[in-house]
Amino acid sequence: MDLRSLYQQVIVNHSKSPRNFGTLEPCSHDADGHNPLCGDRLHVYLQVNDDDRIEDVRFEGDGCAISVASASIMTETLKGKTLAEFRALFDDFQHMVTSDVTAPVDEESMGKLSVLAGVREFPSRVKCAILCWHTVKSALEHEGVARTE
Ligand code: ZN
Repeated sequence: MDLRSLYQQVIVNHSKSPRNFGTLEPCSHDADGHNPLCGDRLHVYLQVNDDDRIEDVRFEGDGCAISVASASIMTETLKGKTLAEFRALFDDFQHMVTSDVTAPVDEESMGKLSVLAGVREFPSRVKCAILCWHTVKSALEHEGVARTE
């Protein structure tokens, strides 16, 4: 299966039945995210334990299929990761979705996230895919609200 049809299939699957959807109470960190360009709104919740590991992460919100699918895949990926691993993944993910459409994707290190490289064919949707990552970042930095604009 090529990356484009895999992309479409995974986006549809995750947007129709998002993983880790719902609130997390109590939680150690949370934040709102808003992408005014598309109207996507997310709220993420994280439980980070004493040795800086993300024990649990969930999200709620309303947005386009890409924003919901990206958040769903992100939460699956971040569970059990350390904050240092999150920061490295944030940079790698940002780099991947903003790189040239012909640039190779490091599927081994990106894992499930690789499929979101498909968004490179739709530059106006990159912010939809990256919103959840900015929202987690601002939750961890206690900024409160993440905006892609
Ligand atoms: Zn969107």
